[in-house]
Amino acid sequence: MEGIRGHERADLHLHTTYSDGALSPYELIKKAKTANLHIISITDHDNVNAIDDAIEIGKEFGVEVIPGVELSVNVGDKEAHILGYFVDYKHLAFLEHLSMFRRERLRRAERIVEKLNNLNVPLKLEDVLDRAGTASIGRPHIATALVEGGLAESYREVFSKYIGFGCPAYEKKYQLSPTEATQLVATAKGLSFLAHPGKYMTDGALLQLIKAGLDGVEVVHPSHSPENTSHYRGIVNEYFLLESGGSDFHGGKKNDDGVLGVFTIPVEWVENMRRRLF
Ligand code: AMP
Ligand code: FE
Ligand code: FE
Ligand code: ZN
Repeated sequence: MEGIRGHERADLHLHTTYSDGALSPYELIKKAKTANLHIISITDHDNVNAIDDAIEIGKEFGVEVIPGVELSVNVGDKEAHILGYFVDYKHLAFLEHLSMFRRERLRRAERIVEKLNNLNVPLKLEDVLDRAGTASIGRPHIATALVEGGLAESYREVFSKYIGFGCPAYEKKYQLSPTEATQLVATAKGLSFLAHPGKYMTDGALLQLIKAGLDGVEVVHPSHSPENTSHYRGIVNEYFLLESGGSDFHGGKKNDDGVLGVFTIPVEWVENMRRRLF
């Protein structure tokens, strides 16, 4: 058994239609099974509403689903992401915080639409809301609404021209401080991991986040080179932290169709996390 177990793989970073992913939990888990994953975590932005069903669906497919969430924090004037794993997805105070973050996302979408309208881009808020449904609303929903409504050429163009950082219709998201985020995850009895540090993080900033209470770092991610991964594994070992990883798969709509089943970690890393829970 040991030998067989040794080949089992996990992907602890996945998105569904409950945030900016294109697939429902059912569709995602079916694909995860085909990609030979044994353990996954669904980590929707500011949302754990997929988890209850996903755990049941996972049982049907023989895929274990670890409850997860992805939170946004401010690091200087930049945004970083913190993954919470093994969170109690029924914890009331935790759920109230997530609802508040989603309400703030809605207000931000309203502000972005207003700015676009002032730039003579006649996007209607309803078109954005239709696309978001019950999901955590984000800029990808705005970009899709603009492209499908014939108001912009491409998804990329929307970001580079209007809503990307520093662009005229850019609006900041409500963000927690790193300590608030790790404390919120701890309140829900989960473990905090810094997501994809290679995307934006200096080592100095990473050390600040470690001090803010991280339990671990996402070392495997499509944005990381092999050198990034070994560099972050070095830091994890130095500070006695846990290591994680995954594909950050959003269902194929971000040209990310090739990542599922490729950016994976050994299930032993998940067992190491479980030993840290209490
Ligand atoms: P939000 O959570 O609303 O800030 O949206 C963040 C998401 O927007 C990211 O996960 C990316 O998928 C997407 N995004 C952000 N910046 C860009 C960009 N410059 N080009 C394309 N997509 C982007
Ligand atoms: Fe996302
Ligand atoms: Fe992220
Ligand atoms: Zn993500």
